[in-house]
Amino acid sequence: VTGQLPRFLIQTTAALGDRIGLPHDEAKHVRVRRLRPGEEVALFDGAGASYLARIEAVSRGAVTVEVTAIRPLREHESPLDLTLAVALLRSDRTEWLIEKASELGVTRLQPFASTHALGRPSPARQARWQQIAAAAAKQCGRSVVAQITPPVDFAAVLRQPCSARLLLAERGGRDDLLRLELGAVTSVQLIIGPEGGFTDAELDAARAAGCRLVDLGPRILRAETAALAALALVQARWGDLRARRADRPSDVDRN
Ligand code: SAH
Repeated sequence: VTGQLPRFLIQTTAALGDRIGLPHDEAKHVRVRRLRPGEEVALFDGAGASYLARIEAVSRGAVTVEVTAIRPLREHESPLDLTLAVALLRSDRTEWLIEKASELGVTRLQPFASTHALGRPSPARQARWQQIAAAAAKQCGRSVVAQITPPVDFAAVLRQPCSARLLLAERGGRDDLLRLELGAVTSVQLIIGPEGGFTDAELDAARAAGCRLVDLGPRILRAETAALAALALVQARWGDLRARRADRPSDVDRN
């Protein structure tokens, strides 16, 4: 139900019956969509809390809503903490990837600099990336907005804590994502290289940091294609769809 309602991002947590003024940009959307007092909307704080609310008042400068129901925490989120570390690509490709990766439920996207990666983006560009993640969360019904971290060096990517580190390698991958066994993981980091690929030294550093090198089959994919294919497989095996199998054991029995 909440997926079809207009959704608005608020900056606070709320309680039942609270009256909230929507942030300026969100209020603008209410007017653009011609929503009226009395109409039902969904609210979320981008950190896991979501609500149902009713529009109380719409004026030129402000929109007030009243919270009418509290939705379950982390509604529509994957149980898996999933980091997508991706080399700095051309900005239009990165923007496209941020939208799609957000829909596929990444917890954070960590752009990184490496030998063959492109240069670092401006702070304005980074702010825009975060807005793209927020817009994607609204559209697809997430209760968490993926965090787009400031770009880091490849060495820092390899220090990020996680229970499994997987590097997508178009050559020399010893495992594939369908057969790989990870046990009961709670956090996975997926690392995707730049169009120029990884250097041998970078691959050595990755192995030394405990990375599993995995491949996605015989064709060389664009970085963003590889990222989406890998995210879908990881969510299926250790995230979204794994959780569903556990909820409904009869589905598994039928297979
Ligand atoms: N220039 C490299 C290709 C880089 S493709 C070359 O020609 O060898 C960009 C990134 O996408 C790679 O670093 C890797 O992380 C990922 N990738 C592309 N195809 C892949 C595949 N078949 N399996 C696993 N990862 C792949």
